[in-house]
Amino acid sequence: MDARLESIKDTVLARNPGEAEFHQAVVEVFESLGPVHDRHPEFLEAAILERLCEPERQIIFRVPWTDDSGRVQINRGFRVEFNSALGPYKGGLRFHPSVYLGIVKFLGFEQIFKNALTGMPIGGGKGGSDFDPRGRSDAEVMRFCQSFMTELYRHIGEYTDVPAGDIGVGGREIGYLFGQYKRITNRYESGVLTGKGISWGGSLVRPEATGFGTVIFTQEMLKTRGTSFDGQRVVVSGSGNVAINAIAKAQTLGATVVACSDSSGYVVDPAGIDVDLLREVKEVERGRLKDYAERRAGVSYVDGGSVWDVDATVALPCATQNELDGGAAARLVRSGLLAVGEGANMPSTRDAVAVFQEAGVLFGPGKAANAGGVATSALEMQQNASRDSWSFEHTEERLTEIMVGIHDRCAATADEYGEPGNYVLGANIGGFVKVADAMLAQGLI
Ligand code: GLU
Repeated sequence: MDARLESIKDTVLARNPGEAEFHQAVVEVFESLGPVHDRHPEFLEAAILERLCEPERQIIFRVPWTDDSGRVQINRGFRVEFNSALGPYKGGLRFHPSVYLGIVKFLGFEQIFKNALTGMPIGGGKGGSDFDPRGRSDAEVMRFCQSFMTELYRHIGEYTDVPAGDIGVGGREIGYLFGQYKRITNRYESGVLTGKGISWGGSLVRPEATGFGTVIFTQEMLKTRGTSFDGQRVVVSGSGNVAINAIAKAQTLGATVVACSDSSGYVVDPAGIDVDLLREVKEVERGRLKDYAERRAGVSYVDGGSVWDVDATVALPCATQNELDGGAAARLVRSGLLAVGEGANMPSTRDAVAVFQEAGVLFGPGKAANAGGVATSALEMQQNASRDSWSFEHTEERLTEIMVGIHDRCAATADEYGEPGNYVLGANIGGFVKVADAMLAQGLI
């Protein structure tokens, strides 16, 4: 890492002890930014990096609620409003027991660059709670969401901060959160949350957007090597919203997705995942992949283990952070891997990224490859602002244009900085320069 940046990084790490994921996200970005600071000494003078690493505002709050047996439960809620240089804070809420400040900050930090890359007017933020929705009834989830919003409402708004979903937060949770916001504020403020239901201000394609976008981005990378998804053997990790829609899109483009996973194990389905059955099991029944395997011939279920043990020409990690390490990356490379598109946020460890890059594998980092979700959230905000709703075809066309645009911007930036094909560098520099220019123009705030 560039010596000037090294000392800034040391200060950031020391100021934020115990936040391993945030440290990882910061180091990964800093490693790309040396050449930018050679060209733009004004960024150093204005302490852009120091400011960028310090969230504009961090909110941590108590979330009390009552479970179905009448017992009081207490969770912790977070919203980190990281950077508003380009627009209102924008980013999802994650409900998962692993959530703590370091996770929210890594996600919020990544979100700044991701949102900048979309070309849409949105800043970066992220939030969530250590609440575990798994095994909770609808009524419990509703009471939790209502309590969470009873504090959060005072911090958000269509011009201030616009949350959406992430792991553990889908259409059901957004519905309960929106209802409580509306009740407390007595405002039908559609643009305060995205990922809403289609009949009450949501956008078509938003549910599909992250998974579809990841595949569109990866397809653009494959094209640079004269190939495409057609005929590829794809392995996807996860089986939530992002994974399911990535599987659907990859198979529409002619690939066979032979495996996907959940936190208990993975399925191998040599004929290609049956997306309708997967949706039924995961989205309707809120069941497990084991149930999918039991209902379909020719499928094997592996309890525990790693889905990255399955051979692939294209890997789409769509589960969670640090799910793919250096060992798994090396194994995938040996099995003939061509490309990786990150549907999740920071799913590959730094070792894994190094293995992919050394092997010449096309590697699309999450902040570029999975930006289709938040980009379509921005399209939802546009529709809300104009009280309009667009067709599926039109919205998907916009998403495709945006993803191709992100790919081309990353590729052109990597070329410009003398590292053709390095999408990590392209995404980090492309996102950073846009935010840094805006911060510089807006003065010391
Ligand atoms: N949570 C998603 C992400 O990681 C989407 C955020 C949004 O739609 O605001 O980008």
